[in-house]
Amino acid sequence: MKLLEYEAKRIFERCGIPVPRTGGVITRPAQLPAALRRAGKGPWVLKAHVLAGGRGKAGGVRVVKTPAEARLAAKAMIGMEIATHQTHGSALKVGEVLVDQAARIAREIYVSIAMDRREACPVVIASAEGGMQIEELAKSNPEAILKEPLDAQRGIEPFQARRLAFKLGLPADQLGSFVRLITALSKIFIEWDASLVEVNPLVVTAEGKLMALDGKIVVDDNALFRHPELEKRKDPEATPLEREAKKVGINYVGLDGNIGCMVNGAGLAMGTMDTVALAGGMPANFLDVGGGATAAQVAAAFRIILKDPNVRAVLINIFGGIMRCDVIAQGVLDAVRKIELSVPLVVRLEGTNVKEGKELLRKSGIKLTLADSLWDAAQKAVAAAR
Ligand code: GDP
Ligand code: MN
Repeated sequence: MKLLEYEAKRIFERCGIPVPRTGGVITRPAQLPAALRRAGKGPWVLKAHVLAGGRGKAGGVRVVKTPAEARLAAKAMIGMEIATHQTHGSALKVGEVLVDQAARIAREIYVSIAMDRREACPVVIASAEGGMQIEELAKSNPEAILKEPLDAQRGIEPFQARRLAFKLGLPADQLGSFVRLITALSKIFIEWDASLVEVNPLVVTAEGKLMALDGKIVVDDNALFRHPELEKRKDPEATPLEREAKKVGINYVGLDGNIGCMVNGAGLAMGTMDTVALAGGMPANFLDVGGGATAAQVAAAFRIILKDPNVRAVLINIFGGIMRCDVIAQGVLDAVRKIELSVPLVVRLEGTNVKEGKELLRKSGIKLTLADSLWDAAQKAVAAAR
């Protein structure tokens, strides 16, 4: 789950990382005067509060000197569509604008902490060339990227933070605050079970102070249960169907294809998607009803899959391990009887009581195609969707 800039900076603030004074987030121009007052003396910076970097280059970051200028910028920004190099070809609607006191920038530095899977530990990534797209820099000038691997429990050691400060060319009087800042960031990374904490740019202000001007925190979804305040929070990136699925405890990710998949277990769901692709089709979703899926969950999963207008066929692939196949089959039948199934249904069952399960489906009188293997099921679903 990605946190918005405002949220990330509040976490930074609580951990002692200097951030600009903020006027908060507004959704209407009428809220601007109060926000400017909260942010203190101008100039101010208005930022499209969306989950994408690269806003600066896309007109989503405006430094303004007067309240009148701020008003024009806010009016233009709220409701605008913003497309940056991180929005993957589509645009995001700007519903919120962040109002901060503007900083006077002497220098921009890039700092982040990410998981280095090859080294199996978090790594601090830093570059003296802040403000730049780090992906570009990694290609054009990889030597300009500094790395310090971290101990996943202890975080960064002071000598590592100092080594980074020297390589970044920070003057001696900024050494202490840089070490504190990096140490705080590494603590945030660990405490929030983050997969990414990024400050781009970390600036040296004209007054010679270090300050986090932007902030991004991505929390590992698998650790959300350890952060109840986030679990309750609405994930701005989730689609309405993904939200609905989450409420009923189903793992669902919408995709672009037309074969709705209902599978129990994340691994089997991945395998099913691959097999559908191998058979020449495209899955409409990843859907894991869970190892102990109940009939009620099967019904809920059906409803969610069928709400996707692209779905042309449904493929159910259930392994009866914890749950018996006959119980699942009954759940499928109950659900199909309640829901008007407008697309072909292919079912593949395997595992405990598979014979009884298939028998139930066969005798039900409901129109569905039984498959004997995953490969058979994928081919039948692909054919049905054509
Ligand atoms: P991003 O492009 O979405 O990552 O948005 P950022 O918040 O990082 O802002 C992009 C750029 O706008 C920064 O690299 C700065 O050059 C500039 N910028 C952002 N905030 C301020 C500010 O307070 N003062 C000034 N002068 N420039 C700013
Ligand atoms: Mn940025």
